[in-house]
Amino acid sequence: MRDRSGDGEDGGDGASSTTFAVTCPYCGEPGEIYIEPDVIGTLVQDCEVCCNPWQVRVGYDDGERYVEVTRGDGSD
Ligand SMILES: [Zn+2]
Repeated sequence: MRDRSGDGEDGGDGASSTTFAVTCPYCGEPGEIYIEPDVIGTLVQDCEVCCNPWQVRVGYDDGERYVEVTRGDGSD
């Protein structure tokens, strides 16, 4: 009888990126955002510099996630 506990291989495959370089559509400041590995879709996050709301779109292209940041308040 063996006690097989703790193979310890849960999570952390490190294959997908979670940090993306973005540029604020309001103030133009470059920055980074963290997106959870399983997140796809649209979310809202405030700019750390000017506090305006970003609309962040997370999609897949060619098996790679990409992030697109646009203005979240509907103005152009
Ligand atoms: Zn900003």
